[in-house]
Parts: sequence; structure tokens; C-alpha cells
Amino acid sequence: MYILFDLDRTLWDFDTNALITFRQMYNEFGLEAQCHVPMEVFHEYYVAVNAQLWDAYRGGTLEKEMLSLQRFALPLEHFGVQTPMVLAERMADYYVHEGVKQTTLMPGAREVLQHFAQSPHILCIITNGFSEAQLPKMRTAGIDQYFQHFFLSEKLGYMKPDRRFFEAVLSHLGTTADDCVVIGDDYDVDIVGASRAGIRQVYYNYRHKSLADKPAPTCTITHLHELMHLPLLQV
Ligand SMILES: [Mg+2]
Repeated sequence: MYILFDLDRTLWDFDTNALITFRQMYNEFGLEAQCHVPMEVFHEYYVAVNAQLWDAYRGGTLEKEMLSLQRFALPLEHFGVQTPMVLAERMADYYVHEGVKQTTLMPGAREVLQHFAQSPHILCIITNGFSEAQLPKMRTAGIDQYFQHFFLSEKLGYMKPDRRFFEAVLSHLGTTADDCVVIGDDYDVDIVGASRAGIRQVYYNYRHKSLADKPAPTCTITHLHELMHLPLLQV
């Protein structure tokens, strides 16, 4: 069976790593003196702006280059930096280059990967993240060797939750939906996408989000360790 893992917030601790990088960047660029707010305040605003811009990027109404720049330019502007584009460009560059050096993984990620790498299952990555960041950060964190296939939205030409992303994955693997399981932390991206393509889903709901009246995923876990005991993934 093919286990299709999302990367950010499923295996790689995106939020912890991003915050470390952000703190470094805030100091290095002297942002507190320019924005007159502590890093936490700037970061909180950035997170909200970034989420909105990512929605637009996924929806195809925003180019990647604009997303990279605007997520820094808009907060800079908001906190009073005049003509923020040059600084935003330097920050965008710094953020990608330094971000990939962070190695914090989600709890249990390494054990789970070791476990399944020794099983007959074939491990794959399915990610919407920037291609220049995803492979380097897996290498730095020492988890790239567990995977036989890396599926990046930029390479496939479609982003999760578009069912064509998942269909492209199946076609590359030369397999069918019933021989795959998707594991991801983002209900609207990973779970909805996999479900559209008829692939079973494990929802990694470590934030204990309520699904309200949304359709239930095939399985839900709150800690990655649970994967090792899921009947779905037994050989
Ligand atoms: Mg994710």
C-alpha cells in the first residue's frame, strides 16, 4: 500500500520552525525598531495575512512570487514601514533560506517513519509547499530517506484539494485509489482532496478541531503514534 503523507504540520513542525525563523529574522533585520511592536504582535498579523494569501494562491488568483512578497510587505505596511517592498524582498529570501534549516518534527514523526519504512508499505510525500523549500528541509531534518516518491504541487501543476492533484499522484504511481491512504493535518486540503479522489484518509487532528457537520474522515488520530496501531495500515 502507498502511504501518502502531507509534510507541513503532519511530519515537519511548521509552526515551531517558522516561529524560530521569524524570531531570528526579526532580530537580524531590526524589525522591532522599524515596526514598534514586539515580534509576537507582528507574527500574529503575519500568520493571518499569510493564511489569506495562501487561500488565494491555492485558488489560483495569486502568483507564488506575490504570495512570497506580500505576506511580508502587508504586515510591514500595517506596522508603519513606508515603501516596504525592498525589505519584504529581503525577508522573503531570508525566510525561505533560513526556514529550511529548522529541524523540529511533529511528536512521534521519526518513530512512525522508521516503523513504516520497515514495513512493505511505500511512503510518499504529497505537499503544496514551495518546491525549493520542501526537499531541503526534509534533508536537513533527516527524514527524506524514508520516502520513495515526492509529489510537489508545483511539479504536478495542481494543488490539494484539487482531485487532479491526487489523480496525477495515482497515475505516477501506476496504482489505484484503494491501494493508497492519505495522512494529513488539514481537513479542507488533505482530507477533502483525498476523499474527492476516492482515497481513504487519516485526519491528524492534533489541534482537536471540531468538524461540526463536515463528513467524517476514514480515521482520525490526535497523535502520530496511533498510526502504528491503525487497522487500516496493518499489513
Ligand atoms: Mg499540512
